[in-house]
Amino acid sequence: MNVRTLMANAVFLVLPALLAACSDASRPPAVSFKIQNVPPVPRTMSQMSREVHISRDFMSPRSRARRASRSMHPRFITIHSTANPTGDAAAHARALKRGAMGSLNWHFTVDQYRAIQHIPLNETGRHADRGGPGDMYSIGIEMGEVRSHNPIVTWNRSAKLTAVLMKQYNIPLRNVVPHYYWTGKNCPAPLLTNGRPGHKWSWFVSRVDYYRRCLETRPAAAL
Ligand SMILES: [Zn+2]
Repeated sequence: MNVRTLMANAVFLVLPALLAACSDASRPPAVSFKIQNVPPVPRTMSQMSREVHISRDFMSPRSRARRASRSMHPRFITIHSTANPTGDAAAHARALKRGAMGSLNWHFTVDQYRAIQHIPLNETGRHADRGGPGDMYSIGIEMGEVRSHNPIVTWNRSAKLTAVLMKQYNIPLRNVVPHYYWTGKNCPAPLLTNGRPGHKWSWFVSRVDYYRRCLETRPAAAL
């Protein structure tokens, strides 16, 4: 058997296995929270922002939530998870815009495909602690939990967005906090362990730090 035939047979054998794996939507993807120590891949802010795929779909300034807002200079980033197995980022944008969330609002919702910004970043939201310091000083990011989406992709997209915002506002890694930090709430639930930050939260922080280092690393000069 020559090399070409061998390759053709390999593709023939592997392809059905891959297709079978892809079509099995009922099985949740395997999640590894092992912290990896890989070298950063340099990216500019605009490159990473494009990877996050950010769009703006702002709530009306006359909405109940935005009328109660104050001006803000962000010093923290608060990470939430929606606990909503059916609503993607666009669904949350629509719910906020039609007033379905009452007095609650936040800055971004992230899902497998995109991040949607709901309010300006120099404006407080109401997502952390009923008008306490969590709301007054932090950008709120809600991570989607749509059942058919891959959570790893959503979490990595959220980590990239967090790294971009850290650099934009000079926010240190220690000020990237789970909603739990402000009130003890079990949020973001999928990244807490028995309701508290543990190995899964450490993994998420390591992803944020990795993307932060990608933004800090200069590309090697061409020889
Ligand atoms: Zn929360």
